[in-house]
Amino acid sequence: MAVILLVEDDSGIRSALSRALTERGHAVHWQPAGLPGLQSVIDDRPDVVLLDLGLPDIDGVQVLAMLRSVSDVPVIVVTARDDDADVVRALDAGADDFVVKPFGADHLDARIRAVLRRSSSQRSEGPIKVGDLIVDPKTRTASLEERTLELSRKEFDLLLALAQRAGEVVSKRDLLAEVWRQPYGGGDRTVDVHLSWLRRKLGETAAKPRYLHSSRGVGVRLAPPSGV
Ligand code: CA
Repeated sequence: MAVILLVEDDSGIRSALSRALTERGHAVHWQPAGLPGLQSVIDDRPDVVLLDLGLPDIDGVQVLAMLRSVSDVPVIVVTARDDDADVVRALDAGADDFVVKPFGADHLDARIRAVLRRSSSQRSEGPIKVGDLIVDPKTRTASLEERTLELSRKEFDLLLALAQRAGEVVSKRDLLAEVWRQPYGGGDRTVDVHLSWLRRKLGETAAKPRYLHSSRGVGVRLAPPSGV
């Protein structure tokens, strides 16, 4: 459950999103414009802000810049199609992620959970231990049985995302959203390829898994080998 602030001037989108997010267990506050939105960040202390870029009083990117001077709350920018330039400006101004209209509520919820996990992992930066595997988000290093693993940037991000939810099956869709920041989903193959590279570096195979356990059609789970 998260406290979500929705800053959106379109009342139809607002009520649909409020309902969908409330159904998924979140508490939703909303504001129809930038200035009351900024006030609400201070008053309501949301966990996540969903910020529409096209607002009636101030441009959303400017709202974001002002917001960043008072808060480091995760912000997901909501934008209409065909304004890539605005998305780039928003990411430069400190947005954590973006979704393009129209989008489904499940997709948005996955992005909300992803930014929340990222912000909580930044807060608790201690190394994560899974059996003899240690993943350290602070130094961005990982070791297995006291041997340092040589991982590419994406391999590390993938391993960290799985380590943060060790023991849980993580869907490829969530991994794509979290590690690759893919706004449109798809691209399971990308995940598969990186998983196979990661497997090789962990010294295991899909047929004989030790740490990386695939659940066909569901996702993948990082867990210590049985007996450790
Ligand atoms: Ca708008």
